[in-house]
Amino acid sequence: VLSYQHGYHAGNPADVHKHLTLLAVIRRLQEKPSAIHFFDTHAGRGWYDLRGPQAQKNGEFREGVGRVLAARDALTNSSQGDLWSQFFSVLANAHATPPVVSDLQFYPGSPAWVASQRRENDRHTVFELHPTEHDELTQIGKRRTGFVVYGDGLHGLIKNLPPKTPRLLVLIDPAYEVKDEYADVSATVGRALKQCRHGVVLVWYPLLPAARHEAMLSDLQQLATPCIRSEFHYKKQSDQRGMYGSGMLIFNPPWQLDTVLHEAFAPVQSLYEPAATHHVDWLNAEV
Ligand code: SAM
Repeated sequence: VLSYQHGYHAGNPADVHKHLTLLAVIRRLQEKPSAIHFFDTHAGRGWYDLRGPQAQKNGEFREGVGRVLAARDALTNSSQGDLWSQFFSVLANAHATPPVVSDLQFYPGSPAWVASQRRENDRHTVFELHPTEHDELTQIGKRRTGFVVYGDGLHGLIKNLPPKTPRLLVLIDPAYEVKDEYADVSATVGRALKQCRHGVVLVWYPLLPAARHEAMLSDLQQLATPCIRSEFHYKKQSDQRGMYGSGMLIFNPPWQLDTVLHEAFAPVQSLYEPAATHHVDWLNAEV
């Protein structure tokens, strides 16, 4: 039984890290006109009301999208200002008027971030296994989601590969509710890259005191596919449970994505407590 619902976490610092990275990759890929098939293996409900009971319960969005929105001028004037402007324009399009922190109401989920960038010739398939989340996702309309499939996203992805489009972008963003999910993700990335050697695959993972992601990263290093790792540590690491940061892997990254991410998150670090850091390195070197 799935119990995780992203509505409690939507717009938190991990979401900002994930969605800005996603946007940075899409921007780079769309410099070329050839079509891309986007797959989102763990879609969530696609659209979040930050004034609703789930988001209000812990108010995590205030520490994430709330914080970057309060720093909009500094971020849009930074060296990756164009990328940040695009981020804020997607957020503005989710509202009737561009939001300020005090009237921020909606936060787009990954299907909506992709839908906002999708071109006529691109394809977009999203998977969701939680019945309630899936039903919500089907309500918000294709323009904001893509083609919605009810089912397991990891199996669904493999079944759909290779795509008919010349290029592929996959986002794998599980809730990691069960320990096996880490191993399932690395096995799926391996299979996907075997079927599509040049596919761009993004994997999100949480930084938790139990550090279960480390085994997944060493499995993924065996693939020897070029891969960038971006980690945003936005809280001090404690011995207690709680997530202290967010990680993103980008297999077959577009040219110079490491520099883009480094520059994009440099001004974000100072918005968080002194212990906050952002690192980009190569999990697997470029060949
Ligand atoms: N990607 C979303 C975003 O960025 O807005 C958030 C996704 S949330 C972290 C993970 C989602 O995966 C949850 O909605 C959960 O119900 C769903 N899920 C869990 N196991 C799944 C599976 N095997 N296949 C597809 N979806 C699954």
